[in-house]
Amino acid sequence: MSRVLVTGGAGFVGSHLCEALVARGDEVICVDNFCTGLRDNIVDLESSPLFSFRLADVSKGVPLEEPVDAVVHLACPASPPDYLAMPLETLAVTSRGTEAALESANRWNARFLLASTSEVYGEPLVHPQSEQYWGNVHCTGPRSVYDEGKRFAEALTMAYRRVHAVNTGIVRIFNTYGPRMRPEDGRVVSNFVAQALKGEPLTVYGDGSQTRSFCYVEDLVAGLVRMLDSDESGPINLGNPIERTVAELAELVISITGSTSTIVHNPLPVDDPSRRRPDITLATTLLQWEPTVGLEDGLERCAKWTRQRLDLMPLQSAFLSSTQVD
Ligand code: NAD
Ligand code: UDP
Repeated sequence: MSRVLVTGGAGFVGSHLCEALVARGDEVICVDNFCTGLRDNIVDLESSPLFSFRLADVSKGVPLEEPVDAVVHLACPASPPDYLAMPLETLAVTSRGTEAALESANRWNARFLLASTSEVYGEPLVHPQSEQYWGNVHCTGPRSVYDEGKRFAEALTMAYRRVHAVNTGIVRIFNTYGPRMRPEDGRVVSNFVAQALKGEPLTVYGDGSQTRSFCYVEDLVAGLVRMLDSDESGPINLGNPIERTVAELAELVISITGSTSTIVHNPLPVDDPSRRRPDITLATTLLQWEPTVGLEDGLERCAKWTRQRLDLMPLQSAFLSSTQVD
């Protein structure tokens, strides 16, 4: 059994990770300030004696006075509308927050895992993206608060490894979706699924030819746990290598939900990357990890959760209406 500190543990990915760690018998200390996370995400966990929660902004320090075996640093707004609405907070948590989390790991001689992002590759000139690619980021554009913040966090993590010999690991996460994404958080899967379930038009930004590679959250969490349990330094890409256009995703969501929604085109956000696909050779060889949940299956699970969350009318899709969430 280990004791693991998870910053951002009340968020979408964090709450699934906390659940997976508690399920295998780890003690989890979750720290979050709820800036994009929700108490609802951890309410079931709070009845477990293995789980405890501390309300804190990790940019101002990590409340930890007891030894831990590992620190997982997930705290950071991750949806583009969230980090664009909180630019200074995003820079604070990727810099000062990362430093505070690294200090905790250093103090207790703990494994440290940083959740970085495929956004470090920016508008990629190399496709698919392998960890060797240094990226092409617009360093003063609006998205830079996230992209450059995460690049700084990676640099700081590597410096702690070199200077203080902290056992650090970095994962670069590609677009991940699933239950507990806030239906209003503005990311493409949560937007499309909520819009389809409400019968509203799906908002495709630009012509929809940009691509993403969508990973189901359960797969991602399995990869995070593998990385946590290893001594690999990374960076290692974690993502699903199957690439789709945003237009294809919109059609798929409409078909899976049986929605009557139409598609509208809105302007493409500034510096929106045109393509993304992870090369996961390192993850498969070093961590023996690869995703197993297909997009159709993952979207169905996501739609079922969102429908329950939105308390909507029963879906028209035969599949969904015959398999309710308990
Ligand atoms: P999320 O917004 O749902 O979760 C982030 C959590 O961090 C929230 O609970 C939020 O309240 C908390 N938080 C933010 N700033 C904080 C602070 N200063 N102090 C304490 N808590 C703070 O996002 P997510 O999708 O769960 O992402 C989790 C991590 O994974 C982030 O670091 C993100 O950059 C990374 N990531 C996610 C994706 C993805 O597709 N979901 C892709 C790449 C990277
Ligand atoms: N997108 C879209 N409609 C939406 C939300 C997003 O077309 O309602 C596009 C967005 O412009 C981007 C892609 O979907 O090209 C993925 O966006 P998301 O916010 O999920 O994450 P990103 O991978 O850009 O961080």
